[in-house]
Amino acid sequence: MSPPLSDHPPIAAEDQLSALLDAAVDAMVLIDDHGKVQRFNHAAERIFGFRADEVVGRNVSMLMPQPYRREHDAYLERYHRTAEPRIIGIGREVVAQRKDGSTFPIDLSVGEFRTASGRGYVGILRDISDRKRQEEQLRQSSEELRLIVEHAPTAIVITDLHGHVFNANRACCELFGYSVEQLRHSRHSDLLHPEDREIALPHFSRLRLEGGSCECELRYVKADGSIMHALHYAAAATDADGRPLMLIGEIIDRSALYEAMREADDLRTRLAHVGRIGTLGEMVSGIAHEVNQPLTAIANYSSACRRMMLAGQVNPGEVLAILEKIANQAERAGQVIRGLRTLAKRGDSQRQMLDINQLVRDVVRLVEFELRTSGRRLELQLAGSLLPVLADGVQIQQVVLNLIRNAMEAMAEAEAAGPVTIETSESEPGWVTIQVSDRGPGLPPEVARRLFEPFFTTKRQGMGLGLSICKSIAAAHGGELSYSLNEWRGATFALLLPAAPEEDEA
Ligand code: ADP
Repeated sequence: MSPPLSDHPPIAAEDQLSALLDAAVDAMVLIDDHGKVQRFNHAAERIFGFRADEVVGRNVSMLMPQPYRREHDAYLERYHRTAEPRIIGIGREVVAQRKDGSTFPIDLSVGEFRTASGRGYVGILRDISDRKRQEEQLRQSSEELRLIVEHAPTAIVITDLHGHVFNANRACCELFGYSVEQLRHSRHSDLLHPEDREIALPHFSRLRLEGGSCECELRYVKADGSIMHALHYAAAATDADGRPLMLIGEIIDRSALYEAMREADDLRTRLAHVGRIGTLGEMVSGIAHEVNQPLTAIANYSSACRRMMLAGQVNPGEVLAILEKIANQAERAGQVIRGLRTLAKRGDSQRQMLDINQLVRDVVRLVEFELRTSGRRLELQLAGSLLPVLADGVQIQQVVLNLIRNAMEAMAEAEAAGPVTIETSESEPGWVTIQVSDRGPGLPPEVARRLFEPFFTTKRQGMGLGLSICKSIAAAHGGELSYSLNEWRGATFALLLPAAPEEDEA
């Protein structure tokens, strides 16, 4: 059976080849064994800027810049001699030259073919200028980024999700005293102070799992063994789906600041102590009297007992009642002395859970004599229940004592009547307030402005240190001491302290 006849006449092989070459997206250049161009397709015309008739019949080296142009014939010749391909059948990135002399990068693959008329080669070329440009931009921006990180003034450490350091910049190496290789062989936790590893762990675990960022104060150990107090900012770098890839940490050395804060704290503690001793000095005669009273009472009760015994009128019930009174008086004297010793003691600031109402009652006991002799009254308005406060009890007593004594002095000077009111409350959630209000003259604006300045006083014998010490004690506890004019046109001083954070149940 004969094959079905096509409607169209058969296409000549030559035409088929031309159509094929011109339809190709990539540039195709066919050369003969001597390097003469046989075919130059449309895509080649487009990328080189030559028309095919300007190239066909000429040496293909015209499409290359020097030194390749010069070397191409020798290259072909060597291939004929040795049959060792350098590019044929392999392909590589080379540089090509356009008609206008400009050069551009191409991906070139070369194949060899044989026809009846001899051997030839086909070159398939793709202009990769755009890809190269993008690669260069990427290279430049990653180089810029590398330079920024490397020369950043703050220490930067980059860790993988297992905490292994895989990069650290120059500032980080200088800060720790390790080389970058040494850092790269360590884990972030190796650099931490052993006691702070537990603190850091939950923060970093969360970043590794969930991403985000965190900030924590941590201690590190440097290469020379010294301890560094640092602020560590860490952030997780994530992929497009938000999955953490690595952690970037910025470590800021705060040792100097920490040392300055410690010194300031030490100074404040000492200044507070001096302030207390000064106040106690002023109160000493009153306090001596306060202690003398129970002692006198004890002496009187003892004499009464003695008399009863000498007279042979020993009634066990009566003696017991007198002994109980003696014990009460001794306890009262003991309380005053304990209060005094607490205030006079010198030591590091020590924070503990405080019941502010109890603290106010303890202070009141110390000023009782001054109250009695001046004929003044204290009115206590203590909240039914108060959140505990984590504070240095001695220092807070000192503030309250100063405020009460200032209030009494202001009222004495103005010969004002009425009580000094001490009120405790939770003025706002999470805060405990102690307010001391008097019915004195209040403060003129110029005094109110300078009230908390050290050495500011309007009193002849005043040191002007009380309120400035009180203010710094408040600040050191994360609280505040403020003044306002009250409804009796007197002064109200409010000490605001943060309630202690609630203990975790777990
Ligand atoms: P000092 O009592 O040694 O003067 P303070 O720092 O305690 O030092 O007080 C500074 C000044 O503030 C006092 O001299 C006084 O003028 C003013 N001041 C303090 N408390 C009151 C008050 N309750 N009423 C009026 N003025 C006051």
